[in-house]
Amino acid sequence: MPTALRRAGALCVALVALAACRAEPPIDAADTIYVGGDIVTVNDAQPSAEALAVKDGKIVAVGPRAEVEKGHRGSATKVVDLAGKALLPSFIDAHGHYISALTVPNQVKLYAPPVGPGSDPDAIVAAIERFRVERKVPKGELIQAYGYDENAMPSGRLLNRDDLDKAFPDNPVIVGHVSMHGGVLNSLALKQFGFSAATKTPPAGVIVRKPGTDEPYGLIMETAYLPVFSALPKPTAEQEATFSTAAQGLYAEAGVTLAHEGATHAGDLALMQRAAAAGANIIDVVAHPFMTDLETILAANPAGGWGKYDRHLKIGGVKITADGSPQGRTAFFTTPYLTGGPAGEKNWRGEPTMPQDMLNQLVKRTYDMNVPLLVHVNGDATIDMFLEAYEFARAGDYSRPWNVTTIHTQFLRKDQLAKFVKYGIRPSFYTLHTFYFAATHKANRGAEQAAYISPMRDAIDAGLRPTNHTDFYVAPMDQMFMMWSAVNRVSREGEVVGPDQRITPMEALKSQTIWAAEQYDEQDRRGSLEPGKIADLVILDRNPLEVEPMAIKDIKVLETIKEGRTIYPSAP
Ligand SMILES: [Zn+2]
Repeated sequence: MPTALRRAGALCVALVALAACRAEPPIDAADTIYVGGDIVTVNDAQPSAEALAVKDGKIVAVGPRAEVEKGHRGSATKVVDLAGKALLPSFIDAHGHYISALTVPNQVKLYAPPVGPGSDPDAIVAAIERFRVERKVPKGELIQAYGYDENAMPSGRLLNRDDLDKAFPDNPVIVGHVSMHGGVLNSLALKQFGFSAATKTPPAGVIVRKPGTDEPYGLIMETAYLPVFSALPKPTAEQEATFSTAAQGLYAEAGVTLAHEGATHAGDLALMQRAAAAGANIIDVVAHPFMTDLETILAANPAGGWGKYDRHLKIGGVKITADGSPQGRTAFFTTPYLTGGPAGEKNWRGEPTMPQDMLNQLVKRTYDMNVPLLVHVNGDATIDMFLEAYEFARAGDYSRPWNVTTIHTQFLRKDQLAKFVKYGIRPSFYTLHTFYFAATHKANRGAEQAAYISPMRDAIDAGLRPTNHTDFYVAPMDQMFMMWSAVNRVSREGEVVGPDQRITPMEALKSQTIWAAEQYDEQDRRGSLEPGKIADLVILDRNPLEVEPMAIKDIKVLETIKEGRTIYPSAP
């Protein structure tokens, strides 16, 4: 019996004549009670409720309004009338690149229409020029852009270094590829990062050459781009905290209260730890150390401390990248691309990031550390390689549970699902590709494979609980648009891509709430609205389970609440 109740009982014995003491439990006064709208709990045992009470950052009651108010409405309790709006658990970012979000406010946004201006090289150059003038970028300073998507250029003319050199002779320029696995560099940037006609293309790398010469033509991808990626300028010490809070504001605006840093380098983690110590975090951030930096990070952060939040930052597990992207034709398949390789290769199947042996060792290393694993796999041949590495790591012993998620998993073959089920491996899918890249995948891989990308229906029917992600900032962070894409699978061209893989709005919602919580071992803490869980909530203007499915993308985030406190729009 709680102490308060015991005391009340004792009091009643003493004052037995007072009727008020009879059986009334004392009120456990909440800070806030939400009523008057659709409360979507994402809890199968109690899918909806009339009222939800929050106290000290946690949910204390979910149920009928009269009951919740009777038990939790004190004199200081604020009662919020949702006025017909919908209250849901806030969204969980199942995979993205938080650290890159820190630089977004200082980069040129070049997503393809309708989200950005990147329809052709001229439009891209014009957008960068506007940025240069507006921001008064001095000569010599690096200009960065993001979201370049050569697949969305109707003219077929692609951006190269000559376009950039003509417009920006005095500034190094890097136009980041939408896959985040590469970029187009102008001559000054190529020089700054050490690329020349003499540079050999590394294994699993791409350096596009100017036709008829060995001169780099601008586009650098995959392993050839990794040194550029790690040498990109980082925020200064003073900027770290303010940039962190500003970046987290972007997540809050999208209704997200857990951000994922999906390939964390040692320097990035140190930055995130400094920002956390400075009190910059307004949401939770989960970092997955990248395979290249694993040992360095472990030396400073022993695995025993992983999986626990410290000032809203936790290390979630290890991230391995096993291939590239299907739109960049760097994902590794069992059959050739219909369009050849990115540098004109014939009979091209893509390439794995590393040989089987090395993948086996890395996966085993993570298994031995007994921490969760996220592994980037896109092509079906890479998924085969990963399953082999998984079996190698476990060496026949499946007694210990192991939390493993495959990231993207786009070209999963149906016959591969059985092993996911057998081993309890969770696929995280990327249904936004059904909108952004349907035509590209169809050209590269044929209609049948393109229609089967991110097969959420089959995965759920097989008994899996997949998650879905934006890969921000590869795609814009728009959780309702992502949900819309999983439910409708409608392409940019208006075609339904693999109608038999569409899922219900509730399943789509679970893939970005409770199932995503499971991915981070946090299903007891968040992901649904249940007493005892943290009060991480989002208020939407309409209930995504009730609107016409094609209208899901138009639903607006009105308010985001982190542990009982409004973080978007900023608290009054
Ligand atoms: Zn990613």
